[in-house]
Amino acid sequence: MEKPGSPDLKSGKGTKDYSRYFDFSGAKLISEEDGKATYRIKGRTIQVNSQPDYKEGKRRGKEEIQIHYDFAIPEEMKRFGEGKLYSITTYGCQMNEHDTETMKGLLEQMGYRGTDNRNEADLILLNTCAIRENAEDKVFGELGHLKHLKTEKPGLLLGVCGCMSQEEGVVNRILSKHGFVDMIFGTHNIHRLPALIKEAVFSKELVVEVWSKEGDIIENLPKKREGMRAWVNIMYGCDKFCTYCIVPYTRGKERSRLPEDVIAELRELARQGFKEVTLLGQNVNAYGKDFEDRDYTFGDLMEDLRGIGIPRIRFMTSHPRDFDDKLVAALGKGGNLMESIHLPVQSGSNAILKRMSRKYSRETYLELVGKLKAAVPNLSLSTDIIVGFPGETDEQFEETMSLVREVGYDMAYTFIYSPREGTPAAAMEDNVPVEVKNERLQRLNALLAEQSRAASDALLGRTLEVLVEGESKNNANMLSGRTRTNKLVHFEGPAEWIGSFVHVKITDTKTWYIKGEAVPAEALAAN
Ligand code: SF4
Repeated sequence: MEKPGSPDLKSGKGTKDYSRYFDFSGAKLISEEDGKATYRIKGRTIQVNSQPDYKEGKRRGKEEIQIHYDFAIPEEMKRFGEGKLYSITTYGCQMNEHDTETMKGLLEQMGYRGTDNRNEADLILLNTCAIRENAEDKVFGELGHLKHLKTEKPGLLLGVCGCMSQEEGVVNRILSKHGFVDMIFGTHNIHRLPALIKEAVFSKELVVEVWSKEGDIIENLPKKREGMRAWVNIMYGCDKFCTYCIVPYTRGKERSRLPEDVIAELRELARQGFKEVTLLGQNVNAYGKDFEDRDYTFGDLMEDLRGIGIPRIRFMTSHPRDFDDKLVAALGKGGNLMESIHLPVQSGSNAILKRMSRKYSRETYLELVGKLKAAVPNLSLSTDIIVGFPGETDEQFEETMSLVREVGYDMAYTFIYSPREGTPAAAMEDNVPVEVKNERLQRLNALLAEQSRAASDALLGRTLEVLVEGESKNNANMLSGRTRTNKLVHFEGPAEWIGSFVHVKITDTKTWYIKGEAVPAEALAAN
């Protein structure tokens, strides 16, 4: 692995068959050097440093993962943002939220300050999501609105980044219909943001730089975190290639941060007073599988993090296949490892799991759930489920319903299947009528609501430790927080409690949240 002082943080990389992605009819090649091409299209100059390429994104080579410790904002950009404001809109998952924290950190080191008012922003970034089609439609709708802003304020810098930018078709659509965008960059080169801003501002060209290579790890990037809960990436990418999922193409191959780097980051967060950390990865259970110089997995990391001064540690997201006994045993020890596990199942039918290429069966999933329930007292399980996958029959959907009954989830994210261009499932015949998909989703959601209500009811009368997150959204006199099992709790209390742990006796339950009364510390001590 590469150590401090490693080179090559500065150059974009990629092959050069741009014609596959862009409508170049009428385009004029102005120059081509150092792997960068400059075109003139419809009155706009476009600089293509590198572009998305699914074939490259899918490639899983044997190259060592490069870890860079030498990140620094280029000297000439260190004060570039002084007196300027930025606004970032984030779509999608926690991974994107966390990338946004990094971009905010980078921008603030350049002197930029954040604003919630886009009208006054000098730089607007849309950090996009590619998981579902409607997320994509929202971004294109947003770009339509931003066009007016750009016309009124030509100096405004507009960038599209995140997973959508890693999609081949998206870059083409932006170039042909939204040529007023200034920068398009992907998930692998966020650290290049200062350099890309410089290129876009000084060249006045639309800069496209989307890396499809396998991906490096850049340590020491600045982050702007808020509140008392932090997200920490422990690994990047995914090698599972579930047939419906675009992530392995947009986020690259699985690559784990070194445990010493993760542990050092958590120690620093503990020192800063953070109360909760969620470890992030597309498939955290695969953590460490790419290490060649050590035998160290996610179970080992969780064991090591038990001794760290962060009161609550969670993780997401898991793949059931890589969830091993070492991890189950570590979680069974409790302490600062929360008894709340998100374990995506997607379907209860073996035939569908096979078509999804999930690489586990209903039986092995249920066996794992059994092990977890036996090892972790008061375990709360949540999951992801897709309904209406191509070819899903009524019987196969009923197998999902019966699995949901058997597991007894506290919560689930449920989705109707929609194809993602470029994935194997998109080539399967989508033969489940839309009304059937809707009806299945409704039935599934009704069952899950019933289960969530039952889980809430079981807490009635109990006194639970709650981490107070803030004022309740609907009632300023109430506070909101989360239990160890991630249940949302509302109760009365002063704002000074925000950020601390309070014990709350549960007095009322609803389907998706619970209510209670704070128990004074003296009363707790007396019990
Ligand atoms: S494990 Fe998750 S991120 Fe990876 S391909 Fe499957 S669904 Fe996508």
